[in-house]
Amino acid sequence: MLNIECPHCGARPEHEFRCGGDAHVVRPPLSASGETWAEYLFGHDNPKGDQTERWCHSFGCGLWFNVIRDTVSHEIRAVYPITAQRPEQAA
Ligand SMILES: [Zn+2]
Repeated sequence: MLNIECPHCGARPEHEFRCGGDAHVVRPPLSASGETWAEYLFGHDNPKGDQTERWCHSFGCGLWFNVIRDTVSHEIRAVYPITAQRPEQAA
């Protein structure tokens, strides 16, 4: 089982969290083209290796935060605030 480090509560089991999808995805303006909206809605990265994701401690404090997780080993390389930029040292 994956243990995730909630910035507020500390390490907790995966079943207390909900994944909110890719992090750092910018919503296009309402006037954007159909192709832009299709890419926003359905064009997700699927990297082998580090991926940035949004997570919520939904059965805990309710805090949203970002995680860098290795999609092969599931190792969590970094946890950082949802408003912060991706940390450089997490490569
Ligand atoms: Zn928490």
